[in-house]
Amino acid sequence: MNKPPHEIFKAYDIRGIVGKTLNTDIIKTIGHSIGSEAKARGLTSIAIGRDGRLSGSELSHSLAEGIQKSGINVLDVGMVATPMLYFAAHELCNYSGVMVTGSHNPPDYNGLKIVLGGESLAAESIQNLRVRIENNNFINGKGKYSKQDITEMYLNCITSDIKLARPIKIIIDCGNGVAGAYAPTLFRRLGCEVTELFCEVDGTFPNHHPDPSVPENLYDLILALNTTNAEIGLAFDGDGDRLGIVTKDGNIIYPDRQLMLFAADVLSRNPSGKIIFDVKCTRKLAPWIESHGGKPIMWKTGHSFIKGKLKETGALLAGEMSGHIFFKERWYGFDDGLYAGARLLELLSHKEDCSETLNSIPDSINTPELQIKLEEGENYALISQLQKTAKFDNPEQVITVDGLRVEYKDGFGLIRSSNTTPVVVLRFEADNEISLKRIQDDFRRVILQAKPDANLPF
Ligand SMILES: [Zn+2]
Repeated sequence: MNKPPHEIFKAYDIRGIVGKTLNTDIIKTIGHSIGSEAKARGLTSIAIGRDGRLSGSELSHSLAEGIQKSGINVLDVGMVATPMLYFAAHELCNYSGVMVTGSHNPPDYNGLKIVLGGESLAAESIQNLRVRIENNNFINGKGKYSKQDITEMYLNCITSDIKLARPIKIIIDCGNGVAGAYAPTLFRRLGCEVTELFCEVDGTFPNHHPDPSVPENLYDLILALNTTNAEIGLAFDGDGDRLGIVTKDGNIIYPDRQLMLFAADVLSRNPSGKIIFDVKCTRKLAPWIESHGGKPIMWKTGHSFIKGKLKETGALLAGEMSGHIFFKERWYGFDDGLYAGARLLELLSHKEDCSETLNSIPDSINTPELQIKLEEGENYALISQLQKTAKFDNPEQVITVDGLRVEYKDGFGLIRSSNTTPVVVLRFEADNEISLKRIQDDFRRVILQAKPDANLPF
């Protein structure tokens, strides 16, 4: 099999199961397509890297071959965190790079994240790679292959800019993902006393899954904070582009609250700067940004949308509830969990008590992300129907930038379509439990009017 199956071309990346929907032949063909696209865009070289998955070495080898077939030169930076590949792409290959990564997915998954000339390929531009293959629309040539270790360049770039006011005792949990190869070194060089949890890179993920957005994956870190003298815990996802934060007392600081802390810091140097966040984030964020002198911009969920908005608006910082945080101030504007961790420690190093600072960030009562499973395509139809017909009870504002985000005087409800699977996603937040229930009841009524057989998870 070397004709890639349709289903691996996703909204934000290419992703499949190794041995089932993904193999070396398929990756080689996709590499040829990516190279051809790069060539058509006037590019000459592409950086490639891979995470710590067992299939990574073989797949990145085939990827290089495929790209070279188009006449594009390949710079292989080896096993790195995704942000390090982005760094190499920006610094050495005209903002062009391909990362072989399954991110936080199970061990048998792998895939590609692609940036060409600074554009993160998503939606249509990912489908175009598939169409190019189906139409046999390849460009042929003979690209060169070279290798470069960019570790020192990347680490120096961070440590030359970020200085800690005092050493902080931290625990790092990498869940055996690729960040484990770099995070302990980075944070020790910044002056931290580091205790390592699962920092040996192991593509079978024998301890817990490398996904800090799932609370149970942080239990080991919470326990370790409880039984050592460390002040704070950092966790990274499988490819190091997302950061999890746990306080000494075991509180998880979710990304929208992380963003509040980072926003205050960025705005202290750049008054009236713009800060972008996605529709899933807490409604405490916008007034917080305003009270620190900044301009809040709520935007669509999805890293390519957020990156696009960042470019368009010249914002200094952007973040998503999924955990991707993009620093444009003092950094490149790509999502980088390792860098975000360093920025966090920089600002906490000026505080005596890290956990007190984190725990004092405004919080509210909220639900995790809830999902309604639907048939393929039904998700988009339901949202557009609701956007046309739904009558909510006494809302202050209905925001339709991505689905419907209904703001009430005491909370919000969100319903939007996932771009990756046939589900609609919901999230609720309120000042208290009674308000939360009232908002959920309002959404229940409106959704059941549009789709009486919907199986509601709340
Ligand atoms: Zn990731």
